[in-house]
Amino acid sequence: MVEVSSAFQMVVSQIDAVCNRLKVKDAWRLRLENCERELTVHFPVKMDDGEVKVFTGFRIVHNDTRGPAKGGIRYHPDVTLDETRALAALMTLKTAVVNIPYGGAKGAVICNPKVLSLNELERLTRRYTAEISILIGPESDIPAPDVGTNPQVMAWIMDTYSMGKGYSVPAVVTGKPLNIGGSKGRFEATGRGCLISAQLAAKHLGINLKAATVAVQGCGNVGATTAKLLAREGCRVIAVSDSKSGVYNPKGLDIEGLLIQKRETGSVVGFKDTEAITNAELLELKCDILVPAALEHQIVKTNAAAVKARIVIEGANGPITPDAHKILVDNGIFVVPDILANAGGVVVSYLEWVQGLQSFFWDEADVNKYLEKIMTSAFTEVLEMSQRQKVDMRDAAYMLAIKRIADAMEVRGIFP
Ligand code: NAD
Repeated sequence: MVEVSSAFQMVVSQIDAVCNRLKVKDAWRLRLENCERELTVHFPVKMDDGEVKVFTGFRIVHNDTRGPAKGGIRYHPDVTLDETRALAALMTLKTAVVNIPYGGAKGAVICNPKVLSLNELERLTRRYTAEISILIGPESDIPAPDVGTNPQVMAWIMDTYSMGKGYSVPAVVTGKPLNIGGSKGRFEATGRGCLISAQLAAKHLGINLKAATVAVQGCGNVGATTAKLLAREGCRVIAVSDSKSGVYNPKGLDIEGLLIQKRETGSVVGFKDTEAITNAELLELKCDILVPAALEHQIVKTNAAAVKARIVIEGANGPITPDAHKILVDNGIFVVPDILANAGGVVVSYLEWVQGLQSFFWDEADVNKYLEKIMTSAFTEVLEMSQRQKVDMRDAAYMLAIKRIADAMEVRGIFP
């Protein structure tokens, strides 16, 4: 197989292979290999110095056969339409694999949120929301946080959309702050889902999690939470990185202290009792569990053979290219794929949406209990599929998801 440069094409080729295997009707395959709705917007934002800049954003609905479209919004200087399509398609598969009643979507704005002031970020978010308001809505397409966005950004989206309607519509976004209808447990949900995936994978392989060593690439919402929760379970987290660089100590890092430094200085670099390590070196460390939780295409054909972990939990979306994945699986590495491993976020987004629609809110223990139930059941179903069909966990997750979506398309039929 050759490495294909298009992220969307990579997802499509995986969908295609699984459709062949499952003998999915051509009509349903074609629908899955195209995005249903694609909106590109170029919009002006007044900067603090009075200058006006034009930004480009996207909102893509990949498929909404199983329910309203659902997916995060990314603010990143390098994000593209192609990448947004790929991320939207992964959301369709993810919501199907964990069996929640949603389709898949994704949004993005090409910008560097790190260099925008808070006021500029707010104006950019409000204008982008107005531009994509023809798609989003609590019953049509529900955004959430992703790389570069956070609960505050979700609050501005909710407020802007509500102003357009003339009344408050909390269920138009998830990942909101608690005081406007957010869910307890949402902020940590993706990391908690990665923890649950790691626990189940370790149990399946007979690895004692309490004695396991862990390396985490990325120290944002997903990476930081996963590192913290795994450390609390007794794992020895030996390396963590962010976009600048990484830190390493084979005896284990003081994760709580590291996260305080990250919060205060914006970087993990130079943390006490550690040596510096590059992002590339981190991926190749000898450890039991590797969690790539930054961006896509980090483990590729050229570095895959050097990965020494026994389990890889895909905290990020698409961190391993298809060629690289084959090398890892051939080397006996147990990979829990993104559409399963990092689904905790969308699961608790679903729980937030349900709580918002019924205006009745649960305590954190109830949220975490549902999350664990849904993640455990999805992991078990994927593992059973993988054993029954003699395929790896990614193929098994795709098979489970595509079967559910194709069945839904079949029963709905084609309009008109
Ligand atoms: P974030 O913005 O909170 O954090 C991203 C982290 O990655 C930061 O620490 C950043 O410094 C680091 N990073 C960026 N570029 C890097 C590089 N080249 N090498 C190493 N580190 C780098 O984002 P997040 O919400 O934690 O998302 C991370 C990944 O998880 C993305 O792939 C995202 O799509 C996926 N994801 C997020 C959620 C969620 O709920 N936030 C849910 C599912 C999947």
